[in-house]
Amino acid sequence: MITCPVCDATIDVDEEDLDEGDPLSCDECGASLHVVSISPLELQSDDESDEDDDEDFDDFDEEDEDEEEEEEEEEDW
Ligand SMILES: [Zn+2]
Repeated sequence: MITCPVCDATIDVDEEDLDEGDPLSCDECGASLHVVSISPLELQSDDESDEDDDEDFDDFDEEDEDEEEEEEEEEDW
């Protein structure tokens, strides 16, 4: 049983037919995948470029989310 590393859907491919470097595609999410290793079976999405190390973080506004102040006082029942 092979699962898509992108969406976790089951890909209907016989593991025995796979070789390292074989291209696959996921029917579910359409991702282009390839086999990185067969034992253990490992798939990688072609969209994930490992070489690209500068990740463009969208300016993450880290605003204080302290609005939910949980003041749980012990209640006497
Ligand atoms: Zn998928």
